[in-house]
Amino acid sequence: MDLDELVFHPWVAQGPRQVPTFVRGSGSHVVDTDGRHYLDFSSQLVFANLGHQHPRIVEAIKAQADRLCTLAPSHASDIRGEAARLIVDVAPEGLGHVLFTTSGTEAIEHAVRMARLSTGRPKVLAAYRSYHGSTTTSIHLTGDPRRWASDTGAAGVVHFFGPFTYRSAFGSRTPEEECERALDHLEQVILLEGPSTIAALVLESVTGSSGVIVPPPGYLRGVRDLCTRHGIVYIADEVLVGFGRTGAWFAVDHDGTAPDLLAFAKGVNSGYVPLGGVLVGERIYGAFTEKPYPAGLTYSGNPLACAAAVGAISAMHDEGTVAAAARLGTAILGPGLAKLAAKHPSVGDVRGIGALWTLELVRDRATKEPLVPTGATGLANAPMAAFMKACRHRDLLTLVLGNRVHVAPPLNIDDADAATGLSVLDEALTESDEFAD
Ligand code: PMP
Repeated sequence: MDLDELVFHPWVAQGPRQVPTFVRGSGSHVVDTDGRHYLDFSSQLVFANLGHQHPRIVEAIKAQADRLCTLAPSHASDIRGEAARLIVDVAPEGLGHVLFTTSGTEAIEHAVRMARLSTGRPKVLAAYRSYHGSTTTSIHLTGDPRRWASDTGAAGVVHFFGPFTYRSAFGSRTPEEECERALDHLEQVILLEGPSTIAALVLESVTGSSGVIVPPPGYLRGVRDLCTRHGIVYIADEVLVGFGRTGAWFAVDHDGTAPDLLAFAKGVNSGYVPLGGVLVGERIYGAFTEKPYPAGLTYSGNPLACAAAVGAISAMHDEGTVAAAARLGTAILGPGLAKLAAKHPSVGDVRGIGALWTLELVRDRATKEPLVPTGATGLANAPMAAFMKACRHRDLLTLVLGNRVHVAPPLNIDDADAATGLSVLDEALTESDEFAD
């Protein structure tokens, strides 16, 4: 029996599958049992921000493993404190404390819990076209088809439309117009739901896996103002975009604003040992100084995970990784993907920032009809399956979700590898073009 069949895999149908078995990695590549090298053009699930086997992270884990591998979260730990210091140093203004978790989902769960406990209010607002995790609360907050199968219709979550100029819910034609209308809409939702019933608003600062949607300038600041005005806790979900992915330490930095709570994971240590967390501002911190915070996780702030974060963040400072991600977007990926869009009829839109981009594939550029229907699986997803197969045959690992090809290589990918990735996408798009009218 294939050992892979002993593993129950998330998000896919179970059973035998034709996939490479990976055994090692180096930089922007992973290598399978046959010694075949694959270019990782999605940083796995957009988390291996410093690529594979970065020596600074590996050495930090090894050194910590020789000292102390595990410690209960309630104990004081030197390495946990050091990780918190490095995280707070780069965090948006006013976020001075860190609750550690082992994943992004748990970070969202805790952020929502903190907001509900500190306000005494029940509801949470979240955007359509969002992903916030796969446990019960976080999947209900999720605003894309990944919610459908698990949705129990639980009360307490209210979805709203964020700004999305390509497929505007408000009929806007410019990002400025979209920003204004999306903020008006959000204010209406708040007023009609009743501000005194809303604990929190959870928002990806740049929408990640649900569409790579970069908000127009001013939108996040507008959200901050609305939350302040109505006493709503503003939770920024930066699980995917935090720690440099968008060419800033955090994506809220682009708008010069700061949330009350910020959920992070992935890029904090490139996922070498699972780690996530919530950056906590003074207002929420203060709510738990007299009474205890009534929740926790056995493995949160694991010393090996924290050591990996110390290694990763130190390396990012020394290697100028955040600036490299910004340049990757403006000099390589942005212009390179725009060229592909001009050439391939199946590409309806190219959008992104820093080292996070998407090609949205359509049947018809004029009508913007998606190349596969929303939530499509099986045969309905044939065009995207053909695209993925073409990439795999050319040794490129990509992340395809719905009708989108997400392009999110390690932030430190070199120019030659980035060019190789773009040229494989160029060849693979010929497959999806077959399905465009
Ligand atoms: N929020 C966002 C924006 C994410 O992209 C993800 C993971 N893709 C999560 C939350 C959940 O994180 P995790 O899978 O680490 O639990």
